[in-house]
Amino acid sequence: MSKVLQQFLVKNLTELQNHGLYNEIDTVETANGPIIRISGKEQINLSSNNYLGLATDERLKDAAIEAIGKWGVGAGAVRPINGTLEVHEKLEETLAVFKGTEAAISYQSGFNCNMAAIPAVMDQNDAILSDELNHASIIDGCRLSRAKIIRFRHSDMDDLVKQAKAAKESGSYNKIMVITDGVFSMDGDIAKLPEIAEIAEKYHLITYVDDAHGSGVLGHGAGTVKHFGLQEKIDFQIGTLSKAIGVVGGYVAGKKTLIDWLKVRSRPFLFSTAVTPSDAAAATKAIELMMESTEHCERLWKNADYLKSSLKKLGFDIGYSETPITPCIIGEEKTTQMFSKLLFAEGVYAKSIVFPTVPKGTGRVRNMPTAAHTKEMLDRAVSAYEKVGKEMRVI
Ligand SMILES: *Cc1c(COP(=O)(O)O)cnc(C)c1O
Repeated sequence: MSKVLQQFLVKNLTELQNHGLYNEIDTVETANGPIIRISGKEQINLSSNNYLGLATDERLKDAAIEAIGKWGVGAGAVRPINGTLEVHEKLEETLAVFKGTEAAISYQSGFNCNMAAIPAVMDQNDAILSDELNHASIIDGCRLSRAKIIRFRHSDMDDLVKQAKAAKESGSYNKIMVITDGVFSMDGDIAKLPEIAEIAEKYHLITYVDDAHGSGVLGHGAGTVKHFGLQEKIDFQIGTLSKAIGVVGGYVAGKKTLIDWLKVRSRPFLFSTAVTPSDAAAATKAIELMMESTEHCERLWKNADYLKSSLKKLGFDIGYSETPITPCIIGEEKTTQMFSKLLFAEGVYAKSIVFPTVPKGTGRVRNMPTAAHTKEMLDRAVSAYEKVGKEMRVI
């Protein structure tokens, strides 16, 4: 290895370790269900994004296996050459129905979707108003577009108006977009979409909502935009197939002209092979199940309400979440990591999330209850929280 690289890596890795900011990655020895095994120890899993428990659902597994039998294991080419199989078309048609839009386009991941969609419509003569807490993939997609990025304070509508007005009146930009997460993953709060849509109308902004954590969760499963009844006001509805849907992939849902454009101008669609046939078939099955019944979604909310109220009763600071995402805010980074380690010893897997993912001093253990948890599992988790919380004098 080059000496320069070696010095860079050792210096920076050591620094992270010394500050308690180095994340050790655990290997999971089972499927990612409500109970997992790590290092030979069974754990109640409160860290997956598998909101509806679909990642291990037998009906999705059957759909995936059947698709492998019929279509093989790979798409074989990028979509515009001959990698568009019927299963991909079916997925996109199903997504459009699910989202209540004219059309949809699928990508290899939610992350990729933002790399694809933002630079396909925005360029160096444009500006993007971006919530300061937007997901890393939105930030990267914005950077890639080379548009001027104007951050507004988190969910602060006065600041958004001020910045939108200034950008509009400057006359410097051809197009201006406002972009936000639908649900913010670290605190679980919902974007103020009705206000954002109104501001967008007034200042002629393009509207872009990345609803990775809202789909399957809000709007009886259809997402944050549907939750507010704003399907006609939001230009881009971005989603992932890897969280509530339980598989892998991402998508944009919107007007047909938008999707037509993305099919000829978004680079990850043009230059990277599509998801496998089994991914497409399993994701389609998941969406069909979600449209047939809201049972999973209802169970998710019931479990989330139970976990939240139980932790709150014990005296934990669970922030201001409006969704199943349940942060337990501990504060200092090393204390937060220790808290998570002690939970692990008690058989509860809830990851600590610290700077730089969240601001310094707001370290938290984040809990993601799912539809697959039983009340008994949640009770065991809450008992572990009580024990560790008292031991560490957090409560
Ligand atoms: C998780 C997430 C993504 C990434 O989705 P993947 O399908 O896992 O790549 C993108 N945007 C937001 C807002 C997310 O929360």
